[in-house]
Amino acid sequence: MQPINFDNHFRDLFENSNDLIQILQIDAEILIVNRAWLHTLKYEFKDVVGKNIYQFIHPDYREKYRKNRQGAINNKKNKSFDLAYLTSTNEIVIGEINIGCSYIDGVPQYTRCVFKNLSENQRAEKIVRESEKRLKAFLTGGPDAVIIINEAQEILEWNPKAEAIFGFSFQEIKGKTLTETIIPPQYREAQLRGMQHFLKTCEGPILNKTLEITALHKSGKEFFINLSISNVKLDEGWLFIAFLSDISQRKETEEALIKKEAELLRSQLLQEKNDQFISTVSHELKTPITTIKAYTQLTLAMCNDQQQSIKANLSKMDQMIDKLVFLINQLLHVSQINLGKLNLLKSKINFKPFLAETLNAIQQITPHQILIERNDEAEITLDAVRLEQVIANLISNAAKYSPGENKIIVRSIKKQNELICSFTDFGIGIADESVQKIFHRFFRVDDVSHRFTGFGIGLFICNQIITEHGGKMWLKSEQGKGSTFYFSLPVSDSFSV
Ligand code: ADP
Repeated sequence: MQPINFDNHFRDLFENSNDLIQILQIDAEILIVNRAWLHTLKYEFKDVVGKNIYQFIHPDYREKYRKNRQGAINNKKNKSFDLAYLTSTNEIVIGEINIGCSYIDGVPQYTRCVFKNLSENQRAEKIVRESEKRLKAFLTGGPDAVIIINEAQEILEWNPKAEAIFGFSFQEIKGKTLTETIIPPQYREAQLRGMQHFLKTCEGPILNKTLEITALHKSGKEFFINLSISNVKLDEGWLFIAFLSDISQRKETEEALIKKEAELLRSQLLQEKNDQFISTVSHELKTPITTIKAYTQLTLAMCNDQQQSIKANLSKMDQMIDKLVFLINQLLHVSQINLGKLNLLKSKINFKPFLAETLNAIQQITPHQILIERNDEAEITLDAVRLEQVIANLISNAAKYSPGENKIIVRSIKKQNELICSFTDFGIGIADESVQKIFHRFFRVDDVSHRFTGFGIGLFICNQIITEHGGKMWLKSEQGKGSTFYFSLPVSDSFSV
């Protein structure tokens, strides 16, 4: 027997291998390729030797090849990956390549690559394997729960998100039907009928639409989901793919909002009813009180000088009737404001004499001395009756809340396009925390409400009237020292300062 010549054997193996073999310098220059390589890629040896390998690789794979080859050289580890070559006639040859590197004393010498050209079948299988991998990744990593069922409604796929939403693991639910698991009892019959109808007619009104319905959690709790179902026909029959997400939290928020809105509406209606009631009652009360006042004044006029005590009593009655009329009017105005019926009758007014006359009239019934420190000329469009009401209210408050004091200072100052009126008293003042709420309806400062009579609506009305005139109200106050209430009004004007 002849001794084995390894060189010959290896050459034989190299040349007759069905796989494409190439040996490259470290700089990727081709040293040698085998016959299968030349045959498959349709080149002659002289066309490839000494050339750089990259020119034979499909451009989309060059970077991948470079990285893996470098990896194999650096890590002394063979690398396998997909690769595509280009033939001399520009056809694509796809396969799997394995790259290794040879070293002498740890120094890389050359790389050897074995490339397996995949047959059509192998390629198809590989594509299926890869798309399965991608589908798996989609099923496991997607944001939605994905459930796949067959015609018998049996669950075939149930991704981790579905596990999280419904509480059933895939192992528990695999092969079970939707009706016996996550569909609530009230929908089960319709679901079965729908499926039968679809299988007969291929019509499914809920397919490919987004629905908001309820589903059952493993614990039995029913909750809202967003559901969309697609269908696909395979050899073994129809498959239905359901994408769903848990929207119970959004639904709860929506429901809470609807409830809140309904409550608001109810309380608004109630408030409107109250206002309507107050408005009617105040109107009804005004007529008899006006008659009582007329008779009181008539009787007062009929009294002679000998009937002084009767006269005094009647005067007191008359004053009390005025107070009553004032309170009834306040109630009437609040209800009118709330019902949006505070109709203003505006006209252009010379404010300076208007203020002087109004204060003069109020002075007749106010014990405090009203001092007008400044009264600028200004022409303003306003409802005189309502403005008198505001001024009377502010003076009356200034007097009421400064017992023991004797003066109130009024200033009316024109600044550019507005007139600012202020009313200063030296009374009890208002604490900071109450200042914010002072114009709120029915607000009264706690610690004074038992000492002074009132409803807590005068300032609310004043503020509404001034706002309706396009102005603003505010105040400065110091507890124990007094308060200044301000209002501004837009000037229409003609008078220049
Ligand atoms: P009423 O005086 O009828 O209670 P108002 O709406 O006119 O109602 O006033 C609301 C509250 O503001 C009063 O209850 C009082 O506590 C406070 N207030 C109003 N004006 C003054 C003032 N000049 N000085 C101190 N407190 C005042």
